[in-house]
Amino acid sequence: MSLKSQIEDLLKTLIDPLSQQDILTCGMVQGLHVLPTGEVSFVLEVSTAYMTTGLKLKEQAETLLKTLPDVTALQIVLTAQRKPKANNPEKKGIPGVKHIIAVASGKGGVGKSTTAVNLACALQMMSLKVGILDADIYGPSLPRLIGLTQKPTSDDGKMMNPIEAHGLKCMSMGFMMDEKTPAIWRGPMIQSAFQQMLRQVNWGELDVLIIDLPPGTGDVQLTLVQTVLLSGAIIVSTPQDLALIDARRGLEMFLKVKVPVLGFVENMSYFMCPHCSERSEIFEHGGVRREAQAMNIPLLAEIPLHISIREASEKGVPLAKVDPSSPLGNVYKTLGEKVVNIIFK
Ligand code: ADP
Repeated sequence: MSLKSQIEDLLKTLIDPLSQQDILTCGMVQGLHVLPTGEVSFVLEVSTAYMTTGLKLKEQAETLLKTLPDVTALQIVLTAQRKPKANNPEKKGIPGVKHIIAVASGKGGVGKSTTAVNLACALQMMSLKVGILDADIYGPSLPRLIGLTQKPTSDDGKMMNPIEAHGLKCMSMGFMMDEKTPAIWRGPMIQSAFQQMLRQVNWGELDVLIIDLPPGTGDVQLTLVQTVLLSGAIIVSTPQDLALIDARRGLEMFLKVKVPVLGFVENMSYFMCPHCSERSEIFEHGGVRREAQAMNIPLLAEIPLHISIREASEKGVPLAKVDPSSPLGNVYKTLGEKVVNIIFK
């Protein structure tokens, strides 16, 4: 077997977590040159959001190819040119909005909405123009989290003006209905309500629009993420095993529709004493970190369980706004910085 074929066989054993295909089949390996002297070179192309994955794949490829005795020299160049492929031509962005990021969780109650709104505030405090769309039509929580329930106005009867709070442009089904009225809607109605809240809103110029997805990974969520051109997704999980299994499902959902997962956030990661800020590991901690490492996905933040986070939410002022320079505020600030570094790189 030629040296080139041996190299290709080895490279085919490395799987790209985004496309779930081996790195040759998905086109990450470009310009493979094998000289008769055994000098080997190629370019490994990854999307910007996947540099960490790219680095790991490069290391793995180097280790594998160095096992071939005929390889005398090896040069792998990692580039971040490859844009995440939109596999669905129906996927559309929003004019004027630079980046759309989905925040998802495998199940409810893990703190997805709390994380989404605090992340939005952290980004806004970095002088970015930020919007947040609460896509949970059955249980909208944004009005409570920002402390506003007013109805959106419209200048022309077609486009709605978002509600402005804490420097964010906000939209939620909760602005349109009574908090106590449950929405009993079926799939297609949810789809059209979601599309209206996304596309019939005067978002204006935004650097980032955060979409707080409904919990779970069902068909509705899948279709939502299939119709929007997303820069990436963030998956929120708690350390408990069950939540992790759900988070894994979340990851699979995004891989299916070829949306880069920017990273995991472990919420309620550890307990921070409200009196002395001492840290206690009340749950087995580190599960999300291990899982993230195994899947080559960055862990963006470990957010403690802290009463101030809940209290701030209940008062309608996200903690990232109330106390931005506190240790807790810093957790959200660092999360915001990491997200910015990934999407604007
Ligand atoms: P989800 O969007 O996943 O359903 P929420 O964001 O609504 O979850 O959070 C569920 C509850 O947990 C809320 O009462 C919220 O204030 C609280 N909560 C979320 N994250 C934290 C945290 N890190 N520390 C303390 N309470 C939290």
